[in-house]
Amino acid sequence: MNGTVRGKRVVVVGLGLSGIAAARRCLAEGAVHVTVNDRRGPGEVDLSRYGDLTRRGLEFALGGHDDAVFAEADIIVLSPGVPPLEAVARSKARGVLVVGELELASWYVDAPVIAITGTNGKSTVTTMLGEMLEASGYATFTGGNLGTPWCDAVGHEATTQGGRCVIEASSYQLEATEHFRPFVAVWLNLTADHLDRYGSMAAYGSAKARIFLAQRRGDHAVVPADDPVVIAFARAGAAQVHTWGGEHSVVRIVDDAIVGPGGLRVPVADVGIKGAHNIGNAMAAALAAHLAGATASAITRTLRSFSGLPHRMQRVIEHAGVVYVDDSKATNVGAAQKALEGVDRPVVLIAGGRDKGGSYEPLVELLRVKGRAVVLLGEATPLLAEALGTSVPFEEATDMQDAVRRAAALARPGDCVLLAPACSSLDMYKSYAERGDAFAEAARGLRAGDTP
Ligand code: ADP
Repeated sequence: MNGTVRGKRVVVVGLGLSGIAAARRCLAEGAVHVTVNDRRGPGEVDLSRYGDLTRRGLEFALGGHDDAVFAEADIIVLSPGVPPLEAVARSKARGVLVVGELELASWYVDAPVIAITGTNGKSTVTTMLGEMLEASGYATFTGGNLGTPWCDAVGHEATTQGGRCVIEASSYQLEATEHFRPFVAVWLNLTADHLDRYGSMAAYGSAKARIFLAQRRGDHAVVPADDPVVIAFARAGAAQVHTWGGEHSVVRIVDDAIVGPGGLRVPVADVGIKGAHNIGNAMAAALAAHLAGATASAITRTLRSFSGLPHRMQRVIEHAGVVYVDDSKATNVGAAQKALEGVDRPVVLIAGGRDKGGSYEPLVELLRVKGRAVVLLGEATPLLAEALGTSVPFEEATDMQDAVRRAAALARPGDCVLLAPACSSLDMYKSYAERGDAFAEAARGLRAGDTP
């Protein structure tokens, strides 16, 4: 059942990329009144960028989330980063429809949707899937949580019946969906993250499980064979459940090769993205792409050619026999764990940033085996220091340049200096990308005097 904004008064909460995309869509689809609301005040945002929209009637209500802003609303569109708001909860209790940008876009899309969620690997799998479908000849939109908001793609060929929409869906976005119905829903994994917002793994898992909520018979769910929790969530839905990576899975490893439908067979050594977790990602992408209509030859080509996104296990430089790897996107413990597992050398780990409320214990376990030393950075330093105890030597750094210099001094030839922070970057940087760039710059700037 699709909703509509035609003739409705809409308040969009959150003046960001996705909020503006939603507002633009509402204006285009005949909403009678569209307001963008934000916590930040008029002095804190640059409204001159939205001249084209204000000319079309867009209004702004800035500086807080008063009930008055929502009094006239028929529909509230929430941006993913917005925390739970009392005024929105009160509006919802009065019967106002509260949706996210994904739900809104889905009302205006006819193409089959392939949606990807999971704690880690979403962007990697989304990008691969998009390439596989495009290589199979479909007009394809790849975006959502990654890159372009989906609302901005509406009207393009990819959103019409013969097209394909590959949508990265975060738990925040899925929270605000009701009728968002992927033809293929991919759930990659579930490990601790965002517990500062959700409070428990059960609540975090339930938010992600909404990816299956509106699915019907004839739709597909793609899940890892070795994750009973994710499989149970999928089985509770109406879609047909497919697993990857298990002995009886359609896509699995046979004789060191990924094999699958249509004669798919790519040796693991030839897969462009490296590391055990990425082979899992590759299998998930191959299976979902097949279900969405991709050809085995297009899947094969992408598996071979796609070599990963920036700031995910990206080799930056080798200096004095030490390899420097940027995995700044490892913003939680699960991702940092996979990063460490993926390195076959002793590791000097650079970790820290803004804590997310999970346990660092799994990381410490691995560091006992592989860790040469750890350099700590940012707000989580005391928490990490406590978790590390006497397991591996560690030092505290003041900024990234200091961290890289210390790491270089601690490393021995043959080691890897790995940035896999297990925390968000927001205490010191605008984004994980900025943090990764700072690391790369510092690593490239190392001179002979900084050698081990
Ligand atoms: P997301 O979009 O879910 O954040 P990315 O593809 O951007 O996922 O990867 C995020 C981080 O997780 C990177 O550090 C990456 O190396 C790591 N990662 C990727 N795939 C997995 C996986 N399947 N399991 C655990 N960590 C992963």
